[in-house]
This record gives sequence, structure tokens and C-alpha cells, in this order.
Amino acid sequence: MPYTLEPSYDDNPRLQELVGRLRTYLTDELLPYEQEHGITAESALDRPTLEHVWKRSAELGFYGISLPPELGGQGLNFTELCALKEELTASGAALSHSVLGDMGGPLRVGAVVKYATAYQLERYLMPVVRGELACCFSITEQDAGSDVRRMRTTATRDGDSYVLDGHKVFSSAAPFADFAIVVARMAGTGTDGGEEEAYSAFLVDLDTPGCRVLEGEVPMSGQRMEGDLVFENCRIPAANLLGEAGQGLRIGIGRITLNRLLHCPSLIGAARRSWDLSVAWSKSRVAFGRPLLALQSVQHKLADMATELYAARSMVQATAARADRGENIAVEANMCKLFTSESCFRVADEAVQLHGKAGLTQGHEVERIFRTLRMFRIVTGTTEIHKNAIAKALV
Ligand SMILES: Cc1cc2nc3c(=O)[nH]c(=O)nc-3n(C[C@H](O)[C@H](O)[C@H](O)COP(=O)(O)OP(=O)(O)OC[C@H]3O[C@@H](n4cnc5c(N)ncnc54)[C@H](O)[C@@H]3O)c2cc1C
Repeated sequence: MPYTLEPSYDDNPRLQELVGRLRTYLTDELLPYEQEHGITAESALDRPTLEHVWKRSAELGFYGISLPPELGGQGLNFTELCALKEELTASGAALSHSVLGDMGGPLRVGAVVKYATAYQLERYLMPVVRGELACCFSITEQDAGSDVRRMRTTATRDGDSYVLDGHKVFSSAAPFADFAIVVARMAGTGTDGGEEEAYSAFLVDLDTPGCRVLEGEVPMSGQRMEGDLVFENCRIPAANLLGEAGQGLRIGIGRITLNRLLHCPSLIGAARRSWDLSVAWSKSRVAFGRPLLALQSVQHKLADMATELYAARSMVQATAARADRGENIAVEANMCKLFTSESCFRVADEAVQLHGKAGLTQGHEVERIFRTLRMFRIVTGTTEIHKNAIAKALV
């Protein structure tokens, strides 16, 4: 088969069937649903709208698809999951983040699932897989982002409970979540770059007395999906400790490492969408008596964009395949997120350039993708932090 930017997955019939079914759902159901209800990427989303997507996705077998069959999934491997994730953002659907549960669903729980007790699985995680509950993940604070060890939120053991105090910011999905996975510092461990064992992770119901969810800042993507969590003498059962006391940073960072890889196909899909729009635009936009596409400099731009996408996807596929073999991908996940976020942003930037003033117009799809992709050079680890991690491991 000759190369196309829209992959066909001829070598994997199961994946080919899944991707085909996902594309059909996105184009025949989700996009028309969004159009009918006036939903855009910047709409404030209510719970019924999201639940509609979660439940339908669960019916179709997509929600929680990567989980093992005993947890209600189909045991999809990382390579296959990456392929599905790329299709979601390539569709341009505003609610694509909710189909596999990136926002509040099974993918937000992610690798944390392996630390859950039987009680935690039944009470919290399985309802998420069924689309009945939603969760957020909260580690960042105002003065603790890249340097998460500076966090000030504390957990104090008191009999059969832990008492949380602190303030988390920028928790994605918090505005509509039922519970949070919170990483906090064990009381009495100091606040200046603590030891790894100083942190623990907890499952916290967001309606617990002493816990408030505040409207978060609106990031430059315009999406209204972040919230702050404030804990004031918030008492939670000791049974809600994830893993063991002192494992919080390992649990949090382990989840982030995998998420760094799993964000990449979403970025590639969004950039692929801006490439598709750019090709269509270059064919239809006429300047100096001929379509833009007739200009060799425009063809070169499109060739560069396609090449960046090919390189990013190749890296991500290779790393996902290593993860599928159970190999440690800590370095490669950082390389993938570093390269993909930078290259997809360059693709989005060229798409804006090709669209001229249309691309600079607020609300135009290439303008929205540009703003969204800009964020991912910071979110889930900044470019500089990825470089630090790669250099530390290799040099
Ligand atoms: C839309 C959005 C969604 C988010 N979702 C979540 C979420 O769901 N849960 C959650 O917990 N957090 C979330 N975050 C937080 C996000 O992960 C952090 O913003 C990110 O880790 C960077 O932290 P910071 O913003 O505090 O920047 P800082 O850490 O203050 O960094 C500022 C600058 O300094 C640089 N820098 C810092 N340290 C170093 C160093 N050692 N070497 C070189 N350069 C350095 C950085 O690269 C950056 O350029 C979200 C953020 C946004 C914007």
C-alpha cells in the first residue's frame, strides 16, 4: 500500500475493524450530535452531555477498551490504543476526549488501576469503566508544577482516617468528576524537595465534607475542563489510600510516564486534522490566478508537515510496541512527548500560515488546533523537563 496520512492498518484485521467502527461512530453519530446540540470545543460541558458519550461509547465497546477482560475491557495493547486515540482527534469532534475516557474516564485512571484494592476497584474504578462515575487526577499546585515535590497539600494519619489539607490547581475533569486521585505529602515531612517516600496517593470523593471544587482557570485552548480542589480538614477513610503510604509519587509519576506516551497520538491526530484542512484549503484558495497548491513553496510546506507527522507517528508506534513487550519506556516516553509536541505544534503553525487571515480568525478550526497544540509543550511535562529526563538517563 502506498503511504497515506490516514492509516489503514491492513496488517492488523482486529485493529482495522475497530478503527473503521470508531470512524463510523465519530462521523455518523458524534459529530452530528455535537452539531445538533451546538457543542464546540469551548462549550462548558454538562454531565448529561458527557454521560451520553460515555454510555454510548461503553455500548459500542470503546469505553475502557484497553483494560483487561476481567475489568470489562478488551485487553487492547498500547499500539492499538494509540491508533484509536489518533482517530479521535483527527475527527475534529469536540467531545472526542470523552470517547475513550481521557477526560474523567478509564484513561484518566490509567496505570493507577494496578494499585487498587478489591474495595477500591468495586467502589470507584469499575463504576468509572461503566461510565457511571468520573474522576480527575490532582498533583499540581500553584507553586508545585514541574517540581511536584514542593507540594504543600498534606495528609495526616488519624486513627482509621487520613485528613487532607491543601489546594490543588489545574485538575482536568474536576468540574464534572465524582472523585479525585490526589497525591499529597505525609504530614511532618517538610516542604523542600522531600524524599520519594514522603508522598501518598488517595481516592477522594469530591462531596466529602472539607473538600471543595472551584472553577479553574480557562487555559488558552478555551476548553472549560479544569478545576481547583481545596481540602480543609477533609477526612477520608484509610481504606482510600492507593497502594502503600509512601508510594504516592511512584504511582503519580508512573501514571504520568505512560500518559506522556498516550498523549502523543492525540497530538498527532490533531495535527493530522490541520494537515487535512490545509490540503483542502490549498486546493480551493486561489491567489494570483491559480490555487495555492500550484505553488511549489506550498507543496513543500505540506511535504514538511506530512514528514513531521510520519516521524512522530513512527516514534510513538515503536515506543508503544516496546511497552506492549513489557519493556521500560521511561526514556522513550519522554522522547516521544518532546518530539511529538514540538513537531505537531510546527505542523499546526504552518497550517495557520497557509490559511492566512482565515487561520488567524478566532473560532477557525486551524486556529483552535494551534492553541490546543501549543499547550502540550507544557502540559503533562514541559519540553525542558522531558530534556532533563532524557539527559539524566543517557548522559
Ligand atoms: C490545560 C492543563 C491541564 C492540566 N491538567 C492537569 C491535571 O489533570 N492534573 C495535574 O495534576 N496537573 C495538570 N496540569 C498541570 C501541568 O501538568 C503543569 O502545568 C506542568 O507540569 C508544568 O508546571 P507549571 O505550570 O507549574 O510550570 P513550572 O514548573 O513553573 O515551569 C515554568 C517553566 O520553567 C521551566 N522549568 C521548571 N523547572 C525546570 C528545570 N528543572 N529545568 C529546566 N526548565 C525548568 C519549565 O520547563 C517551564 O518552561 C494541567 C495544566 C494545564 C495547563
